[in-house]
Amino acid sequence: MKIHTNTGGLAVTNAYLIVDETTGMAALIDAPHNTTAPLMNVAKHNNWTIQYLLLTHGHWDHISDHKVVTDQYPQAQILIHHLDEPQLLTPGSLFFQLPYKIPPRKADGYLEDGQMVHIGNLEFTVMFTPGHSPGHVVLYCPAESLLISGDLLFAGTVGRTDLPDSNPDDMRQSLLRVAELPDTTDVRPGHGPPTTIGAEKISNPFFNF
Ligand SMILES: [Zn+2]
Ligand SMILES: [Zn+2]
Repeated sequence: MKIHTNTGGLAVTNAYLIVDETTGMAALIDAPHNTTAPLMNVAKHNNWTIQYLLLTHGHWDHISDHKVVTDQYPQAQILIHHLDEPQLLTPGSLFFQLPYKIPPRKADGYLEDGQMVHIGNLEFTVMFTPGHSPGHVVLYCPAESLLISGDLLFAGTVGRTDLPDSNPDDMRQSLLRVAELPDTTDVRPGHGPPTTIGAEKISNPFFNF
């Protein structure tokens, strides 16, 4: 497995390109504004097929580039939890007018708790982790000891829960769930640098149970 990262947009959000090099099958995870083209160039250059755009949640900073992806890879399926699909159908910020328009679109399918997503021979488990948003999910690959944590868990902090669609109690339950993953789990968040579950247990004041 290989992971490529690109970061951008107004909220400095991470996009990930994950590939199973043995099959050439790949997926993008999250699509911040103006971040996906360089990742797709890497895929093109290596002759990888992007099967999915997997969205951890529906906030504008994670979905902005969705059409950029499907314009280049029309067969790529956009998957999101059904509780966050409304934000894909009516994209935007609740706080301010974005300086660009995100086209609305329907999901091609849904991510549900316990569902397996296969990227070639890689197997990711969807974990439903609401709190930051109602339909937030993280993606866990036990074989690679990798967690794509979206806006649930960051290095040193956690996703905000003061948004109109947030729920602090759900957030606590979701954090407790990922706290059970092995300490060595490589965590790739929606914002900021990589970390591990073990490092966050030691140093993250919001991840201290
Ligand atoms: Zn968010
Ligand atoms: Zn975010």
